[in-house]
Amino acid sequence: MTGCSRNAVVPPPGPLQPGVSLALAEARAQRVTDIHYRVHLNVPEAAAEPIAGRSDIRFHLADVKQSLALDFRAESTALHSVEVNGATLPAVIDTEHVVLPASALQSGENRVVLEFTAGDSALNRNPDYLYTLFVPDRARTALPLFDQPDLKARWTLSLDLPVSWEAVANGPRLTVVDAGERRLHHFAASEPISSYLFGFVAGRFQAVTREWRGQGMTLLHRETDSDKLARNLDDIFRQHREAVAWLEDYTGVPFPFEKLDFALVPAFQYGGMEHVGAIQYRAELLLLDENPTDDDRLRRASLIAHEVAHMWFGNLVTMRWFNDVWTKEVFANFMAAKMVNPVFPEIDHELNFLLRHYPPAYAVDRSAGANPIRQQLDNLNEAGQMYGPIIYNKAPIMMRQLESLLGAEAFRAGLADYLQRFAYDNATWPALVTILDQRTDLDLVAWSDSWVHRAGFPDAAQQAEDAALFYGPQVAELAQMRQWAQLPPVARGRLLLNLFEAVLAGGVSPQAYAAELLPLVATEQNQLLLQTLLEQLGWMQQTLLSDTAGARLQPELEAVLWQAMDTSADAGRTRLVFESLTRLARQPASLQRLYAVWRGESSLAGLTLAERDRIRLAERLAVALPEQAHAIIAQQLAQIENPDSRRRLAFIAPALSADVAVRDAFFASLADPAQRATENWVVDAVGYLHHPLRIAHAERYIEPSLEWLQEIQVTGDIFFPSAWLQATLQYHHSPRAVGTVQRFLQERPGYNAQLRMKILQALDMPQRAMRLRQ
Ligand SMILES: [Zn+2]
Repeated sequence: MTGCSRNAVVPPPGPLQPGVSLALAEARAQRVTDIHYRVHLNVPEAAAEPIAGRSDIRFHLADVKQSLALDFRAESTALHSVEVNGATLPAVIDTEHVVLPASALQSGENRVVLEFTAGDSALNRNPDYLYTLFVPDRARTALPLFDQPDLKARWTLSLDLPVSWEAVANGPRLTVVDAGERRLHHFAASEPISSYLFGFVAGRFQAVTREWRGQGMTLLHRETDSDKLARNLDDIFRQHREAVAWLEDYTGVPFPFEKLDFALVPAFQYGGMEHVGAIQYRAELLLLDENPTDDDRLRRASLIAHEVAHMWFGNLVTMRWFNDVWTKEVFANFMAAKMVNPVFPEIDHELNFLLRHYPPAYAVDRSAGANPIRQQLDNLNEAGQMYGPIIYNKAPIMMRQLESLLGAEAFRAGLADYLQRFAYDNATWPALVTILDQRTDLDLVAWSDSWVHRAGFPDAAQQAEDAALFYGPQVAELAQMRQWAQLPPVARGRLLLNLFEAVLAGGVSPQAYAAELLPLVATEQNQLLLQTLLEQLGWMQQTLLSDTAGARLQPELEAVLWQAMDTSADAGRTRLVFESLTRLARQPASLQRLYAVWRGESSLAGLTLAERDRIRLAERLAVALPEQAHAIIAQQLAQIENPDSRRRLAFIAPALSADVAVRDAFFASLADPAQRATENWVVDAVGYLHHPLRIAHAERYIEPSLEWLQEIQVTGDIFFPSAWLQATLQYHHSPRAVGTVQRFLQERPGYNAQLRMKILQALDMPQRAMRLRQ
């Protein structure tokens, strides 16, 4: 490896700490190289039965001056045997580690064989499928290993599965051997990859394989709607092939891994996860319903482009430590934004970038909980807290400014240099800044300080000269809306963002702004702008307007939405307006009309409801029509064909109940981590508990929700703490609700700093709404 080599002087690790401390990771990275894991897992058909595992680890050790720790966060009974270089050792887990004594180790080659019961939590075991999701540090909950991104290893996996199950893993499948009810899958060794990228998906999936570069590209899915598959599969495969070709061209680096398969997982925690050779996606984001909006199609293309871009940015060159996890995310997003342009020539990409990245980034940077892009991380067990809109939304804005400062060609050449220098290895942000700094006269270090190391909106002096890239709210007045018809789309988008910030800052009244937005619902033809203005209207109506002003606006709002529905000639626009109507309708006549649509007694021109639309409509009607809630949900449950969708609705049904005792009991049940296992469902359910129509009753859930947060951070995946907070707080605005959160923080001066920031981010909208409504 060249470039940024590690400091030679590292203090010896102190007593064992839970997690993977920075000191432990640095000490191990100096001593351990050439790691090869051979992992065998025996997965029973029943999700409740334990998975027996065996791991045969070979590695090179520089010295035997000290003991060496493997990471394994498991019950003490989960470790069955430990053999080091042929000698049997006691099978003991100490403070989340398996300590190999110096006396058993040797300089040079070592072999450690462990038998264990695999921890289930990061294996996402469902009734007839499972999948790994180990990012950032959860591999160590499933099996013993060196769980840090800069100890890259080859992985050879074998899986003993029920005979009817399919599987994909990092390496190509070499052999399949049937033995009665079981089937043994052997996969080839992976290239050197970080521990968080080791992964597989197995279960009752259908496999679809298409030819790609003389080999197969395989998709696994559980979709039961064959029309939906037929509508989507060609596009999904094509977008993967095109993304690979685009990245090879842009980076000058050929596809760095042996093959590319992917799995469509129902209720997957994230949009996607870039496991080498086996990408996972949330199924519903790839399998679009009929009449998708431009935005649905773009989001899918961007998601695929993002995950494929990670094969170079993240998988080939990986951050040394998770404080730089944002680098892989920013490059994946940045490449995705560049890549989807030629595929969607009809879309205004400048506008799309603006509306997708700026609002979520503003929402954090305007709050008291704003965090810098690059943060300190002392232990991997807090790495999940690095993620959020600052990484996913602000960092790409920063990267566009950086490209603009350097010039597109110098920037691209710098990235190619970076990829080649650190291929199959690890790098840091300062190492990249050093590479790029050689290609410009500007002071990139000062620039990086303002954008990357400091929280909030950067100084005007550190913004690119191109005004179109400016990041931060700019002065806007309502009078500017009179020029709407004359403004180009990007200027309209900027005006919407700036005026919304002005409303939140108290400079423009929400009533006056809502009055300007309303007539645009029927006339604005650009779907991206329409979606943004509908979302802003939703914030006005559900949160920012006083009760009186909201009640005055309600009939007009519904009339405008119905009129736009009835006159729209464009299926994508129709869907956007319908989505707003189902969310915002409150008047009996509107609700009855939607109820008739849900029952199939009437239809809406230009709109075909897929099963997913009908389920969502049923959920919203159940809340808005409490006396019919029980019947609506019972009927919807009986009609659902897709078993995964039925399990979901059965789970969230109590949160939709009109009976407060049922809702209270459901909320109380969420104290149990097992009840929070399928995080998407939980976030949906919590959103319904805190629905704007039920906000007063829901205030009692706020305090316990905050009290559980630290445990949620430990047991949940990376986006869950924020999603939990947003679903809980977003519609609240009463002084009592805001006071509950403020008191919670005041009473805990030593509270976890990252979680405090996330709470303050989620509290920003309620606080502003409270002030505006006074
Ligand atoms: Zn990503």
